[in-house]
Amino acid sequence: MSDTENGRSPVEEVIIIGSGPAGYTAALYTSRADLNPLVFEGFQWGGLLQQTTDVENYPGYPEGVMGPEMMQQFRDQAERFGTRFVTDDATRVELSTDGGVHKLYVGDEEHLARSVILAMGAEPTKLGVPGEEELASRGVSYCATCDAAFFRDKPTIVVGGGDTAMEDATFLAKFAKDVKVVHRRDEFRASAVMLNRAKETKNIELLTPYTVDSFEAGDGGMLKKVVLDNTDGGEDLELEIDGAFIAIGHKPNSAIIEGQVDTDPNGYVEVEGRSTRTNLAGVFAAGDVVDHTYRQAVTAAGSGCAAALDAEAYLRDAPVDAEAHWEPDPDKIEAAAEKAASGS
Ligand code: NAP
Repeated sequence: MSDTENGRSPVEEVIIIGSGPAGYTAALYTSRADLNPLVFEGFQWGGLLQQTTDVENYPGYPEGVMGPEMMQQFRDQAERFGTRFVTDDATRVELSTDGGVHKLYVGDEEHLARSVILAMGAEPTKLGVPGEEELASRGVSYCATCDAAFFRDKPTIVVGGGDTAMEDATFLAKFAKDVKVVHRRDEFRASAVMLNRAKETKNIELLTPYTVDSFEAGDGGMLKKVVLDNTDGGEDLELEIDGAFIAIGHKPNSAIIEGQVDTDPNGYVEVEGRSTRTNLAGVFAAGDVVDHTYRQAVTAAGSGCAAALDAEAYLRDAPVDAEAHWEPDPDKIEAAAEKAASGS
């Protein structure tokens, strides 16, 4: 008798939480492996690429592609092989600590799974100033690797004082007319080597101590101006710019597994070596919720594939009686074996 006939929730082979390139690629691979995955893709499915316009650095799209269109194609491809979707947010998880069945919740709805792939992504930290949200993808960007090439010979700024800001500024300077690094303090958090590389680049200027007051649009609704406040009581500044890259950190979307899966002090899920295995048996993690270094769609997709293969290997090597809903106790098994061997 199946679990559904028993009136219990069926135990899924794999549930994937998240639906950017990592989640959908994990879905594609697990569905093609006949694992019949269920994806909690979130109310706002598609991840960060839904907020992007042109994507020109994803291999296989020589003419580029719009972010939302690409995510629709990722989703369609996973669906073609039988992936099922819940277009809502996972609200709570109770992950088994001993390789047993994991419980996941969407509101009051309980779902059970033998394996779970965490692919909730990360969010760039926002400045929270007027104009920022309206001008996102219209001049305001959170990814220099993705968007720097759109600002050839244009005046730009990078906001932030850490390694990411220096790296973004140095990369952007190859394209832009000039790059002003706007930072709120005179001291920089960035490592000396990265700071020096930025300082030595001819078209980079460090502008301190300033915070962004607001972004303003010009004709056509594209970014045209930034207003900067001097935090030391000095004169405020207005700059005409076409591009603003915000590099003030990222936050992984890992709140739902906090306290259950090992994370680093910044909340990124920790995995074993180059695998996607977390500290919990049957729980895997992929994409930006793990990766604070590369953060690219293509690297996220690659790690989604790795998570699917890791989950497949786990399910193959750790068969569980789906009817049982419990994990055998090795001590009891040994005691029973000894009893049988002694004939008592
Ligand atoms: P980060 O080191 O936390 O630096 C964030 C910067 O943004 C800080 O300078 C901070 O200013 C500023 N900031 C934060 N909130 C702000 C706000 N609301 N308004 C204005 N400024 C704000 O972040 P990150 O640069 O992304 O680096 C994250 C980690 O990745 C670091 O460990 C870094 O070393 C590493 N990383 C390494 C490389 C590399 O080695 N190639 C490249 C990139 C990143 P304050 O300094 O005043 O707090």
